[in-house]
Amino acid sequence: MIKANNPKLKSWVEVPKDSDFPIQNLPFGIFKTRYLTPVAGVAIGNYVLDLVYLHENGYLDGLGLPPGIFNQRYLNDFIALGRKKCRTVRERISELLRDDNDELKSNLAAREIALIPMREVQMLMPVRVPNYTDFYSSEEHATNVGSMFRDPKNALLPNWKHLPVGYHGRASSIVVSGTSIHRPKGQIKLPDSEQPVFSSSKKMDFELEVAFISCGETKLGQTINTKEAEDYIFGFVLFNDWSARDIQQWEYVPLGPFLGKNFGSTISPWIVTLDALEPFRVDGPEQNPEVLPYLKFSGAKNFDIMLEVMLQPENGEAVTICRSNFKYMYWNVNQQLAHHTINGCNIQVGDMYASGTISGPSPGSYGSMLELTWNGQKPLTMPDGSERKFIEDGDTVMMRGFTEKDGVRIGFGECVGKIVK
Ligand code: CA
Repeated sequence: MIKANNPKLKSWVEVPKDSDFPIQNLPFGIFKTRYLTPVAGVAIGNYVLDLVYLHENGYLDGLGLPPGIFNQRYLNDFIALGRKKCRTVRERISELLRDDNDELKSNLAAREIALIPMREVQMLMPVRVPNYTDFYSSEEHATNVGSMFRDPKNALLPNWKHLPVGYHGRASSIVVSGTSIHRPKGQIKLPDSEQPVFSSSKKMDFELEVAFISCGETKLGQTINTKEAEDYIFGFVLFNDWSARDIQQWEYVPLGPFLGKNFGSTISPWIVTLDALEPFRVDGPEQNPEVLPYLKFSGAKNFDIMLEVMLQPENGEAVTICRSNFKYMYWNVNQQLAHHTINGCNIQVGDMYASGTISGPSPGSYGSMLELTWNGQKPLTMPDGSERKFIEDGDTVMMRGFTEKDGVRIGFGECVGKIVK
């Protein structure tokens, strides 16, 4: 049992009831303020706890942390210390924030400096991302897309239930929540035309995903099995894999997604640790046919994380357009990492591995406009009466995710992006 996960813990820092960041969460991120250059922090209630301050003032003594480990632009060096070391840091922060611990609580001057109101900080990319992989692990999503673009009777391709399908995405264009995304231009082929045209995408879409971030490194030729996989996973973020469906549809055969995807992906800024999510494990869907031995696993490897997507037109009201859950994933993260490395592919610290669009069984749980409007055939009606087949310029897409059990609610904060010309 990880002590920091105890549902009975209470913090002396005020945590609103519906906060994503109770003392049982303690996610890590990188922030800056008007007075501070980018440094590492932990979220608690409506505050950010400055880890550089804690480290430099002796509050993290005895943990064997290298000097300056939190005074960096990214968390890569910190998470490279490994899950065990990061766990001791989270446990220590939990101690310092407990209502029965006076070390920081009783030092008003230190509290004043170490705790910064969230409204005063700007969140930045938490890690430098060397590599980005996108899986395709929701059976419902793969079935919907296969039905629309190929054949409803054979919606899943023959390989789909034998391996977690994925592709290598673009790491350079992963941005933190709040960054605007430019509507991409490219080649599209209109249905009544033989030739492609050059155009702005007319089918701008989001994809509701959750991504894990690796904290270990392997050598070429080394593999990670499903048992070891979790030693290499630091935590999770919400992930919006923006997609231009018309560009994608014209370009994707035979090698898969390219310019329809690589213009931008948005992540939520706080990395919720795998440790914090331990109490929220659930069994995934039954896998049938039986998988090959290297993909077998034991234990509950899915996570019960409720997910929501809201769409907000420019100057309009935000409306929920999708409610899904991370637990629907057919392939779990252990299997994804085992499959990714079974050929000897090496992984690096800070790599991002997105789940693939997380659609559930009912139409209200589909994780993309493509599915929600069935490729534009069933437009959504917005509160202002306008219709949406896909995302318009000025629209903001907001993703949220949280899990709840035994009175503890662990959330991810927001993953927000606006589409501009
Ligand atoms: Ca995707």
